[in-house]
Amino acid sequence: MSQAFVDLRSDTVTRPTAAMREAMLAAPLGDDVFGDDPAVNALQEKIAGLLGFEAALFVPTGTQSNLCAILSHCQRGDEYIVGQMAHCYRWEGGGAAVFGSVQPQPLNHHSDGTLALSEIEASIKPDDAHFARTRLLALENTLGGKLLPFDYVQQATALAKKHGLNRHLDGARLFNAAVAQAAQTGSNALAEAKRIAGCFDSVSVCFSKGLGAPVGSALCGSREFIARAHRIRKMAGGGMRQAGMLAAAASHALDHHVGRLAQDHALARQLADGLAGIEGLQVEAPQTNIVFVDLTGAAREQSAALLKHLAGRDIQATGLYRLRFVTHLDVDADGVDRAVAAIREFFQR
Ligand SMILES: *Cc1c(COP(=O)(O)O)cnc(C)c1O
Repeated sequence: MSQAFVDLRSDTVTRPTAAMREAMLAAPLGDDVFGDDPAVNALQEKIAGLLGFEAALFVPTGTQSNLCAILSHCQRGDEYIVGQMAHCYRWEGGGAAVFGSVQPQPLNHHSDGTLALSEIEASIKPDDAHFARTRLLALENTLGGKLLPFDYVQQATALAKKHGLNRHLDGARLFNAAVAQAAQTGSNALAEAKRIAGCFDSVSVCFSKGLGAPVGSALCGSREFIARAHRIRKMAGGGMRQAGMLAAAASHALDHHVGRLAQDHALARQLADGLAGIEGLQVEAPQTNIVFVDLTGAAREQSAALLKHLAGRDIQATGLYRLRFVTHLDVDADGVDRAVAAIREFFQR
């Protein structure tokens, strides 16, 4: 069936499937601020178990999840080491600094998304009154759709541990990373997700991205860490009541939407392949579900015009730094073909 709108702005735009809506309607509910919501409790146990942690906390957004994590690991006057393009540094309004007086120490990324181990080590401050106390290393996987090499994740987190730092993973798209990693190792996605998560003291995952739930993220960690995060969630206004309807959607997504992320990755490759060879476009080969495209030469200033051209054909994308196309549950092969054809048409004018 051909879709009227092809929305490639983000994997957050998905709407719950009919089966997911049924699961939401059937959810047993209670008041989660009292700890009484069975569906929330079940989801928290499920995601903690899947990723190998003692406990988990259901939160409304990935942003709040990262905030709860950083403020649970760090005190006022502490700092966290983080990538320049990491969501929990660049894209969250500076929340850790604003609400927690926690200073970021951003580092530049290599082109594969990694932070140089030597730079991580050099940025850890000595215990001296001049400096903030370096407390935490925060990594992100996937980062801009890139899978961090697993041996790098092991090395960076081991280095942090050696220096007494805690390790947080912003795994908003951890399951995309796990599916891509499973394709390399021949293992399965859930095993890879657990292997990646096992390198960290805390992990945040989003249900509202490629997994297709309408709302929600989870923060995982030790029981004691999650108890601290629970207090911060309340402070941040994230204590929700009959949140089980949302938790049931997330649970359904974990049961039914992890393996299918491979289809999103295939569609991203289809899109990138379709755009290859167009004069004026430089297409970065996608590793998961995000395709970045740069306009070059005479086309350099054309991104607003291109987005407008696409919008006129009911195709949506974004171009904040670079053009970005994200595949997801609500995009199919026909929609990707339409996007490719519309972009080709723009450059043939
Ligand atoms: C989307 C995203 C978040 C934040 O999630 P929201 O639910 O939009 O607040 C955090 N980190 C990464 C890497 C993300 O992609």
